[in-house]
Amino acid sequence: MPPVLSSIIRDKVDHIDGASNAQLSVIDGIAKEFDLTVEKLSEIIKHFCNEMDKGLEKTGMNVAMIPSFVTGVPTGKEVGTFLALDLGGTNLRVCEIAFEGEGIIKVKQHKYRVTETQKTGSARQLFDFIADCVDKFLAEFVTDYTENAKIFKMGFTFSFPVEQTAINQGNLIKWTKGFTCSDSENKDVVFMLQEALNRKGVPVVVSALVNDTVGTLLSHSYKDPNTLIGIIYGTGTNGAYYEEISKIKKLNKIPDASEKMIINVEWGAFDSEKKALPITMFDNKLDRESNNPHYQIFEKMISGMYLGEIARNILLHLVDRMLLFDGYSSKELNRNYSFETEYMSAIEADESHTLDNARKILEELLNIPSTTLTDRQIVKRVCQIVGLRAARLSSTTLAAVIIHCGMVECGVSVGIDGSLFEFYPHFSARLKTALRELFGSNVDKIEISLARDGSGVGAALAAMLAATE
Ligand code: ADP
Ligand code: MG
Repeated sequence: MPPVLSSIIRDKVDHIDGASNAQLSVIDGIAKEFDLTVEKLSEIIKHFCNEMDKGLEKTGMNVAMIPSFVTGVPTGKEVGTFLALDLGGTNLRVCEIAFEGEGIIKVKQHKYRVTETQKTGSARQLFDFIADCVDKFLAEFVTDYTENAKIFKMGFTFSFPVEQTAINQGNLIKWTKGFTCSDSENKDVVFMLQEALNRKGVPVVVSALVNDTVGTLLSHSYKDPNTLIGIIYGTGTNGAYYEEISKIKKLNKIPDASEKMIINVEWGAFDSEKKALPITMFDNKLDRESNNPHYQIFEKMISGMYLGEIARNILLHLVDRMLLFDGYSSKELNRNYSFETEYMSAIEADESHTLDNARKILEELLNIPSTTLTDRQIVKRVCQIVGLRAARLSSTTLAAVIIHCGMVECGVSVGIDGSLFEFYPHFSARLKTALRELFGSNVDKIEISLARDGSGVGAALAAMLAATE
């Protein structure tokens, strides 16, 4: 009789049928390495709270705490039509957003895929492509585009670390999420976009620059005034919240008559020194082979771009020890990033006894010659281990912001956007469980909801707030 698997996974898991002692003990060891006790979560939160304080004091800190220069809070009464552009990491979205007052918003939008060549070529090529998409969108979806000489105002959601200097100005600090465009670091992204639009003669003025988290926070606030935090769990992860201006010690020019300003935390970069986070060999392998080693360590353990790759590293480790797929991999599985986070979602969601969807992914998409039920159950367990750690780890920065703002007892609303949060099975329940372990019954005062495509609406709102100032 093989021993009963004792993996600490803090979740309901299926039994692994017919697994050998060797398989069970290795998986058990991996599960332990990925486990996060509530004590460990609290330790991470403490460290992150210190990092937030440092970031508010000085520029250039690891957790950058970037002032957004957005000081107005939407009331829900605003009226007007604005364009929004959202460069996330995977898609480029162009939107026309009509605010009709009474919290009513009408959105027309179209998504354009950003290719690898555009992500890694020159900045000029990338911004020319973006200007082309805006032009195409206006021609196809906006009726008064060609009829009159209207100039459109646009909010630009740019989801990469930017040192913002004004509502419509900000220099790129560093590309992340697989982007490496040359000739753009330390340059003003609004200027680069405006130049590209001007080159093509597109009648658009970029009047606000926001991070996607800032956009998500704004759009959620339009619907719920109790909102404190906007979060992204998509290609990457990050958060933004309303901070008291008096606490942003590094601000030179204090905007008049405002009490609060949105801070873009840039928490993806947390713990680049690898002091607080429970890094495993699988994370180190991913980091070493990534195009930004030593950066975005927190993001690399949590977000959609990376989870599949962590799981793939574990699967190959098991194959190499002859504990999975009879020791055979495939050309496809050997390729970096071939095991997509979407596959993990589908495998975790597969409740069939024979795990047929898992079989399709492994045998048809990844060309593994053949899989047994035990193999597929092991793969599912690996996905659960990686997915659970991501969700529990996600609770830390969210909890830290609530603690930092002294809002544990009062309760807050949180708006979350991103495909990982929207589609990954159990992500939100696992996140809530971790928060309950941390906050006890106070968790019931935290209202977490999906703020789908909030970043686009938020950029348009920022353009509107900028126009009314
Ligand atoms: P962006 O970050 O570009 O704004 P998204 O929020 O859509 O875009 O996030 C895209 C990321 O989400 C990709 O890295 C992808 O791996 C992941 N993703 C997309 N669909 C799913 C899914 N069904 N389950 C889990 N992750 C997904
Ligand atoms: Mg996004």
